[in-house]
This record gives sequence, C-alpha cells and structure tokens, in this order.
Amino acid sequence: MSAGKILIVEDEETLLEVLRYNLDKEGYTVVTAADGIQALNSARSESPDLIILDIMLPQLDGFEVCRILRKDITVPILMLTAREEEIDKVLGLELGADDYMAKPFSMRELKARIKAILRRAAMQSKPGGVEGGVLRIADLTIDLGKHQVSIGEATVSLTPKEFDLLAYLAGNKGRVFSREHLLERVWGYDYFGDTRTVDVHIRWLREKLETEPSKPRRLITVRGTGYKIEG
Ligand code: CA
Repeated sequence: MSAGKILIVEDEETLLEVLRYNLDKEGYTVVTAADGIQALNSARSESPDLIILDIMLPQLDGFEVCRILRKDITVPILMLTAREEEIDKVLGLELGADDYMAKPFSMRELKARIKAILRRAAMQSKPGGVEGGVLRIADLTIDLGKHQVSIGEATVSLTPKEFDLLAYLAGNKGRVFSREHLLERVWGYDYFGDTRTVDVHIRWLREKLETEPSKPRRLITVRGTGYKIEG
C-alpha cells in the first residue's frame, strides 16, 4: 500500500531525481512536474495527497501555482524556497501554503515534515473520528468532520492549516495559548518553523472571519501571552 501520493514540482533535474528517489524509497507514490503549467495540470489530474512546490519555476512560479490551486483545492502544499526574501513572501502573502523548507535542506527533515503534514490531513478527513463534531461560537460554525467553516449561512474557505489553528482555538475557547504552544500543537512537534508562522496564520484567519480584521472580536491577541478565541 502506498504511503500517499506526492506531486513534486521542481525544474532542477538533479534535485527532482534526489527527491523522487528518496520519497519513492519511503513508500510514497511519486508524480512530478517541471514547470508551473504542468504542476497545475498534475495537481488536478493526479489528486495528490501532498504537493512539494518549488518557487522558481518556468511558465508560472510557485507563488502563482499556489495561489491558483488554493482557489479550489485544499491539498497540503509544502513550498521549497531558495532565498530569504522568498521565505518572507511565503509567510507574508495569503498563499495558503502549509509549510515551507529553505534550500538546502536535509532529506531527514523533509521526510519528517511530509509525515507530519500527511498525518494531520489523514486525521482531519476521518468523519466522526477523534476530531469529529461541530463547534459553535456565536454565529461561527466549525464542522470538524466535514472540515467546513461558516459564519451564519456563508461558507468560509480556509486552508488546511488555517482550519487546524481555528479548530484548536475554538475547541479550547476562552483559553489563551502562547505562540510556541500553538506551533507545537497545530503544526506538530516535528515542525521546524518559527512562531511568526502562527502570527501570519492568525492574520489570515482574521481577514476571513472578522468584520474588521484590524479590530478583531473573535481571534483575540492577549498581549505578552498569545492568542485566544472569544467564547
Ligand atoms: Ca527551481
């Protein structure tokens, strides 16, 4: 049985082959694309469980690919970045990438991240599983089984990571959590990112859930401590 299907989008042939070899050895089914257009096509035709997406690509760059896919696909996306400016962009833009890795990276670290991402995705797709149920906070409804969020009658489209963060806070409403705690619980013990990731996702959630994102009434910053969801 395959451990999952991974689409690798990378135009550097050597790196692509190293990735293909290593992930194949781990039991994943690997499909590849070498430019942005191929990436879009394969993402739709192959229904991968995870996309590893390089940023510097011919045709369309990784940012564009991510932005286009996020309009209708919730597959986890791990972006590969080569430069510091790209990391800032991944974190700073509303791209909806779930994670990123800066080149050069170790295969060990990449495999750990892939495992963590796929494990979380599998847990979320289990209807009525450990994470099943519906959370309601005022007019906000979070269906943990179906992975759907709505405000009143209006459905809100969230990336997988935004959903995880919201679900965690909502499942513990009124409690304040530090950025470190959220990073550990939502992104996983084996996540190597920094706490800025949490701030960025909170900002994205506010833009989607708050009437006035600059004056949040649901997702509250507790100064010097962290974040909570108002119950
Ligand atoms: Ca490249």
